[in-house]
Amino acid sequence: MSAVVMDGKGLAEKVKAQIREKVSKMRRQPGLAVILVGADPASQVYVRNKEKDCEECGIQCYDYRLPQDTTQEEVLALVTKMNNCDAVDGILVQLPLPSQINERVVLEAIAPEKDVDAFHPENVGRIMQGQAYYKPCTPAGVMEMLHEYGIDPAGKHCVVVGRSNIVGKPTAMLLLHENATVTICHSKTPDLKAHCCQADILVCAVGKQGLITADMVKPGAVVVDVAMNRNEMGKLCGDVEFAPVCEVASYITPVPGGVGPMTRAMLMENTYQASQRRNSK
Ligand code: NAP
Repeated sequence: MSAVVMDGKGLAEKVKAQIREKVSKMRRQPGLAVILVGADPASQVYVRNKEKDCEECGIQCYDYRLPQDTTQEEVLALVTKMNNCDAVDGILVQLPLPSQINERVVLEAIAPEKDVDAFHPENVGRIMQGQAYYKPCTPAGVMEMLHEYGIDPAGKHCVVVGRSNIVGKPTAMLLLHENATVTICHSKTPDLKAHCCQADILVCAVGKQGLITADMVKPGAVVVDVAMNRNEMGKLCGDVEFAPVCEVASYITPVPGGVGPMTRAMLMENTYQASQRRNSK
């Protein structure tokens, strides 16, 4: 058996084209404020990509690049200004922030209705209740990909490996809301293999190259690899041993070209949704 490789890159292009089409019919362009503090090279790449995505979707990007020694008060003042700015529908603060700034305090200062990353405790609580303003981008990207390929989590046993607040836990919650039976594994889970082998849908979000081997995958399972690692050659790879697992799984996401592009597309979708929400008030 050779698994169907789920094309996240292609689907992300499709989603962005749909957003562009919807935006072209709006009287006011949606606006996304992106705040980057410091010069972390990876963060600079992420922010550049977000600007590019905004351009493709017809979303106005308001780019704020602040120096490394910016104080917490200065970042909070900018967030408040963006909360009150009519042209801005969504606010994204690129993480990580420099050590003098408390990330939690900054994320909690973002108005929940402009929190397009869905990291604010109000949105996290809403996700638990199935009432989310926005779904966090990576878990939303995972779900969108399952839907695109006609994979219904209802009644399936889903095993999510990783329990972070931004990926593992919200992904488990979105699967639960779609009637999956969900197991969450983490670094203290004994016998990870025994759990993974039971998964109809296996979502891996750890950050350890080679963690998921073919003998940990049930024949015919769907395998979603969220991780982004660098291998010994510096190339991007996931947690799953791709080629051998392809021989066991029915569907699999590649790295790169899987969940990563979908995460970016979902930020655009959330920004569009945010503008719709504000326009309808
Ligand atoms: P994280 O905060 O470091 O969380 C990693 C999780 O993996 C933790 O819950 C940890 O357990 C668990 N873990 C560590 N070692 C394990 C093991 N041997 N067996 C089972 N579980 C183990 O990372 P994250 O932010 O969730 O990101 C996870 C991966 O996804 C990373 O590679 C990241 O780069 C990638 N990512 C990709 C996207 C995308 O757009 N594709 C977006 C975000 C993140 P404990 O809780 O017990 O420590």
